[in-house]
Amino acid sequence: MFGCILECQGEAGTVKFCVLASGSSGNAALLATENTRILVDAGLSMRELRRRLEAIGEDLGRIDAILITHEHSDHVAGLPVLARSENVRAIIFMTHLAAPKIDWGETQPPRLEMFQSGANFQIGDIQVQSFGIPHDTVDPVGFCFAVQGVRIGVVTDLGYIPESVKYHLRRTDLLLLEANHDLDMLKVGPYPWSVKQRVMSRVGHLSNLVMSDFLMEDLDASTSNLVLGHLSEQNNHPAIVQMIATQALEQRGLTTRLSIAQQRSPSEVFQY
Ligand SMILES: [Zn+2]
Ligand SMILES: [Zn+2]
Repeated sequence: MFGCILECQGEAGTVKFCVLASGSSGNAALLATENTRILVDAGLSMRELRRRLEAIGEDLGRIDAILITHEHSDHVAGLPVLARSENVRAIIFMTHLAAPKIDWGETQPPRLEMFQSGANFQIGDIQVQSFGIPHDTVDPVGFCFAVQGVRIGVVTDLGYIPESVKYHLRRTDLLLLEANHDLDMLKVGPYPWSVKQRVMSRVGHLSNLVMSDFLMEDLDASTSNLVLGHLSEQNNHPAIVQMIATQALEQRGLTTRLSIAQQRSPSEVFQY
């Protein structure tokens, strides 16, 4: 399994990261150490989430926390059921503004922890940095995690990449970044014009072009694994994303390893 053997020599334990699902039909990712296991987003049903975790040797009942980026259904579809389940002990972390947007049923779940966008906090041995991103929900956030000397950034669902977000993504070892659509495919594709406008807007989704510009100008050489995700099934293709990103990395002379996260199956388990 890939790992930063040289850099991590002497560090205790292993940091694991896996994108369980990525795309407009559901998003979830796992970050785990020997002590702490967290999910970023819960856009799969509880059953599917459990199935995908089991496929990589993890147990939904042992998840300590679920961090939510924003309230679009592809990020929270499984959340109300997870929040009520007696077999799930995970504390749910959402921003103060996003939490009331969830249809929790009769009462708010007891295991809900609300935070301010921009706040830093600790979950077990994982240090969490949240930061605001431009997207069309009340209070969307991205995350950067620092654990055992490893930095992992997770940022999808954003219309563009402001300087503040670039700042937070500096010195990441692994970065999950959105590559949502190819502009030409979107323009001639089947979406109604209003939806095309929304996707292309400053609070929509990241195009391959903007992703490529980021790789050309901002990606740190420290990023050993770049995972591109939230690909549109209608308006993008993994081969196009692969080609554009590979070109950008080659022009930079970076040896960053590139992976593309999928909707229907978990990614490999990245280990540091
Ligand atoms: Zn989404
Ligand atoms: Zn969204």
